[in-house]
Amino acid sequence: QPVSERRPSWLEISAEALAHNVAYVRELTETNRFFAVVKANAYGHGLPQIVTAAKRAGVDGFAVATIDEGVWLRQFGVKLPILILGVTPATYVADLAKYDLIPVVASETWLDDALRQLKPEATLTVSVAVDTGMGRIGIRNRAELERVVAKLNATDDVVFQGIGMHFATADGNDTVYFEKQLAKWHELTDKLDLPADIWRHLANSGTSLWHEQPSTDAVRVGAAMYGFDASQGALPNRELQPVLSLKAELVHVKQVPAGTSISYGATYTTTEPEWIGTVPVGYADGYPRALQGMDVLLPDGRRAELVGRIAMDQFMIRLPEEMPVGTVVTLIGQVGDEEITLVDLANKMDTIPYEIATGLSPRLPRHLV
Ligand code: PLP
Repeated sequence: QPVSERRPSWLEISAEALAHNVAYVRELTETNRFFAVVKANAYGHGLPQIVTAAKRAGVDGFAVATIDEGVWLRQFGVKLPILILGVTPATYVADLAKYDLIPVVASETWLDDALRQLKPEATLTVSVAVDTGMGRIGIRNRAELERVVAKLNATDDVVFQGIGMHFATADGNDTVYFEKQLAKWHELTDKLDLPADIWRHLANSGTSLWHEQPSTDAVRVGAAMYGFDASQGALPNRELQPVLSLKAELVHVKQVPAGTSISYGATYTTTEPEWIGTVPVGYADGYPRALQGMDVLLPDGRRAELVGRIAMDQFMIRLPEEMPVGTVVTLIGQVGDEEITLVDLANKMDTIPYEIATGLSPRLPRHLV
């Protein structure tokens, strides 16, 4: 997939906003280590741009979902610790050691398989995943956890670096399940024979922003670093700045008479003479078809409505008056006091901002500003 550099539609990634968000979360959580979660092309924001900005912001490590994302980071020159949040098949243990990536030990079986396949001269650094109620990956009972800890403590070619869990409801306003998970964490991990310098990492964005910190060793933060509200307005607003803007230039502008239909399906028909602008962004760019009827922001902050269906690569807006080709419109971002956020798009589509962000296509150029 080539990046469409010559088409006038692009993402702007604000290094300043990201640095603000990292500093804000650090201060709020008093964490000793900030792990920037950059899986899925840095939540669609663009891996090179976000990694560059995050390094500048002084993060302490990165978290990814897959071993390949970790290898990519090493090849990009990242020297900081890299945690792989998902399960890595134990068959890749040689690559984990070679690239100095930290896999999660999600079961005793995984650990046994990995140790069997680890070459004698290689060292593996690991973090143990504990499942306290997310129900996804990790060790769920004390006996298995004790055996894993004992094996890790007894093995010289393994560095037992971390232990963590993931909260399922930290960004919601009901705290009952959160407390239940925290109690389970204590039940499973209190008085375990853990190395003195181990990093306990429990907090995602929701936990960092809206809860008392269960550990100050490390946080694993995505949403808050990117500056979007994971709670979608359910919890008190925090002083985060959106990192991403999506902008485009009008590539075609025309006046049409009343009774003119616009786009596939002819779902919109003008009722009077109207100025129509064409925006070179479509559902293949990750601006979903279900956003029909959304607004974009004009250069002076006025809103223009998206009319007719969104096509694969283009959609149309109704302009208040004639505007030149080349006029910049903002699909996501701020113009003056007006703003359209990832959360606005997510709400319109009955989904979460994570899904909108990660859906932004690699076809869109990402400019670090
Ligand atoms: N930790 C784990 C295990 C995750 O899966 C994720 C993302 O889904 C995160 C941390 C970061 O979550 P958030 O973006 O809500 O901060």
